Amino acid sequence: MVHELIELPFKTDSLEPFMDEETVKIHYGKHHKAYVDNLNKAIMNYPELEGKSVEWLLTNLDNISEEIRQKVINHGGGVYNHNFFWEILKKDTKIPNEIETAIIERFQSLENFKEEFKNQSLGVFGSGWTWLVLDKNELKIVQTFNQESVISKGMFPLIAIDVWEHSYYLKYQNRRAEYIDNFFNIINWEKVNELFLEEKQ
Ligand code: MN
Repeated sequence: MVHELIELPFKTDSLEPFMDEETVKIHYGKHHKAYVDNLNKAIMNYPELEGKSVEWLLTNLDNISEEIRQKVINHGGGVYNHNFFWEILKKDTKIPNEIETAIIERFQSLENFKEEFKNQSLGVFGSGWTWLVLDKNELKIVQTFNQESVISKGMFPLIAIDVWEHSYYLKYQNRRAEYIDNFFNIINWEKVNELFLEEKQ
């Protein structure tokens, strides 16, 4: 199976001004695309991996030849993480009741959740991601480094913020905190709620 760049589920300018069009274009068209191309290159000579989805690859790392395992983690993770990231971005959505209640139960308030999510995102040293996940039915905020993905650790993602500099440098330069603050304006809460209802028990 040749992996393909997914279609962006929104117009490149639709997250303005919080995430600018130029950043979206380069992030999606260059960075995300490069992960797809490099994943295809990495698995090219491994016919046993043909037809396997990126989700399968990342949740079956033990079954992947050691020679290319790190490349699959890096590039496969890059593909999956960005596919997921674009999916949960949308401006002006209202938080549905189910996920709001669950967040308040777990983090005391939505504001506390945002503060903890922000602190963890600021605390990623170098490149990586911060996630809200369901881990054995429990809401947790976790970090992953480089392009490692939470699905490789058996967790189910609900929200992800990319804190690689390529995701904010054009607009925010070194101001990661401002990028994170604005990220809260473009979380697609309807989609997050849908994922939550799908996975929680
Ligand atoms: Mn990225």
